[in-house]
Formats: sequence, structure tokens, C-alpha cells
Amino acid sequence: MTQNRLIVLAARPSGVPTPADFRMIEAPVPEIGAGQALVRNTLMSVDPAMRPRMDDVPSYTPPFQIGEPLEGQAIGEVVASRQPGLPVGAIVNHRLGWRDFAVIASGTVVDTTVAPASAYLGLLGGKGLTAYVGIVNIAQLKAGETVYISAAAGAVGSAAGGIARLLGATTIGSTGSIENVAFLRDELHFDRAFHARDGSIAAELQRVAPDGIDVYFDNVGGETLDAAFDALKTFGRIASCGMISGYNAPMAGPKNMFTIIRKRLRMQGFLVSDHAASLPAFLDLVVPALREGRIAAPETFVDGLENAPAALISLFMRGGHRGKLLVRLGVEKRS
Ligand code: NAP
Repeated sequence: MTQNRLIVLAARPSGVPTPADFRMIEAPVPEIGAGQALVRNTLMSVDPAMRPRMDDVPSYTPPFQIGEPLEGQAIGEVVASRQPGLPVGAIVNHRLGWRDFAVIASGTVVDTTVAPASAYLGLLGGKGLTAYVGIVNIAQLKAGETVYISAAAGAVGSAAGGIARLLGATTIGSTGSIENVAFLRDELHFDRAFHARDGSIAAELQRVAPDGIDVYFDNVGGETLDAAFDALKTFGRIASCGMISGYNAPMAGPKNMFTIIRKRLRMQGFLVSDHAASLPAFLDLVVPALREGRIAAPETFVDGLENAPAALISLFMRGGHRGKLLVRLGVEKRS
């Protein structure tokens, strides 16, 4: 192949992105220089945090630029190399998704004897580490406590539920469809699960957790956060991981903030990028559990680079994918 396909930002979205906000371009496959490797991407991640980067506002990651390719985690095979640490044939995890071929100077060679390469974009990658950081470092969840996790069927939520179970906690999850409630209960083994419909979340949480919750792992914000304030026990903790209900539209702040004083709650936001030091402890917990079938690594695949924009847009729909949503760009190599 001599041509490379890349997805660029065509326009800044207003609200939920539409296909018109993306454009595919073609360019020659780039040459590599000293210290670089050419990777043929086989898998790429779509992430909620890509949405704020489509706006021209400062965030914790720089905004995407109009006409420039989008970026994000990807896995591919090194097909040419002038970088000794990235030999031809290696399967690498790197940051230049949204294209068939990427030139990289650094990346992490993944061990496909532990798990399929795709797991390194999900449970064994940043999503699993995010879940671990929120549950262990931030919320300090203990055996016997009860944790409520919103968007529990997704990548971070499913990992958070699995890690909480490994720690001996009681797990409650919510999700956007009846079908995914069954998935939470039957396949991810949440102790209790409910369908998070607007207007009913506080009542549903009260129904499934009449004695209250010790920890809320927040992926959603808005009305769900309000409901969690009500359900938290005195000295409860909130790990603020994400607030996806506010990524495409203004989000109402919690109406019951005084609860934080009355119940002496602790609420702390975090970014996984601050917690690289937790990677060994996270892998020590999760890798044996994955090998022994004590934790699940659910994945949903969409095929084709041309379908990556639709995959990203689908993250903002309710009751869709299960586990980590990935776009398959080619046939994945397994050793
Ligand atoms: P995901 O859960 O796999 O996908 C997003 C899910 O959010 C959707 O499937 C949907 O789940 C739910 N959702 C979408 N729009 C919603 C809305 N308006 N209201 C309520 N729920 C909505 O995505 P993920 O990658 O695992 O990310 C989950 C959260 O973690 C996001 O908030 C993300 O920003 C955050 N995050 C934070 C960090 C960090 O370092 N702090 C790192 C990674 C991710 P249902 O179908 O179940 O409704």
C-alpha cells in the first residue's frame, strides 16, 4: 500500500458530533527517519474525552485542530523500523489512531501471550487503570462496602465493577438499556443493576440500595450525581472519573450540595495520567484475575476506519456498546 487514509476534524461540533464534523483524507504513506517506526494500525480506541478536544477550549489535553488528523490510542504492527526498541513485527500500543499508518518514535510493545492485543486498549490499558485508580487510590473502597458505578456497562465502568468485586465489595451498576442491565447482572456479575432513565435514577438507586452506598464511582455527573449524593452514607466517598452527561450540553450542577457537609462526604476528581506509578499494582491485581476468569474484559468491535466517526458518536447514545468500544482497522496479529 502506498496510500494512507486519515480522519481529520472537518468542523467543530455543536452538541453531539455528526458525521459532517469528520472527513477522511488520503496522503502517501509517510517515510520514516532515524529513531522512527512505521506502524500499520489494526485497532483504535474511541473515547468520550475526544469530544471535549473537538471544541476550541483549553482542557487537560490540547484541542484537535480543524483539518488536522484526530489522535487517540491505537494498536498496530511495526512494518518498517529505524527504532531499535520497535522492531519489525512488534505489536505496539501508541497514540496515533484515526489513520491506517502512523509514524511513531515511541510506543509500548504489548505482550499478546497475556491477552489479545485489544485488551491493552481496554481492561489492561488506560481504561482498566482508570477504574483501578478511582476505586483503589481515590475512593479507597474496602471489602464489605457497597459501591455504585454509573455507565457500568462501558469500558471504565465494567472494569470498575470487576475490580470492586475482586476487592470483596458489593457492586451496584446502572446503564442505559434493559438489555445492558441483564449484561451487568449475568455477565459482569454486578450484585444489583438498574436501568438509568432520566427522572428515575434517585428512586431506582433507593430501590436497589435501601441501606445506602459507601462509594459512588461517577462516570456521568448531572442527575446521577444528585441521586448518589442522596444515597451516600455518612463519610461516603465519590471518585469523580467523568461527567459524560455534560460533554455535549450544559450539565446541571448538583442541587443538593449541602449534603456534602451534612454527611461529611469526600469528593475527588482524578486523571489517570497522574497515576502511572499505580500500573504495577494494577497489573498484579488484574492480570491473574483475567487469566483465571475472575474478571471480564468485554469488548465491542466496529469494522473499518471509515466507521470510526460513527463509533465515536455512538459513545454519547444510551444502551449501546458493552465494554470497550474499538474500531478494527485490519486483522489483529496474535502470537
Ligand atoms: P463508555 O462507558 O464505554 O461509553 C460511554 C457511556 O456513557 C455510554 O455507553 C453510555 O452508557 C453513557 N452515556 C453516554 N451519554 C450519556 C448521558 N448523556 N448521560 C448518561 N450516560 C451517558 O466510555 P469510557 O471510555 O468507559 O468512559 C467512561 C467515563 O470515564 C467517561 O465519563 C470518561 O470521560 C471517563 N474517563 C475518565 C478518565 C480519567 O482519567 N478521569 C479516563 C478515561 C475515561 P449507557 O449505555 O450505560 O447509558
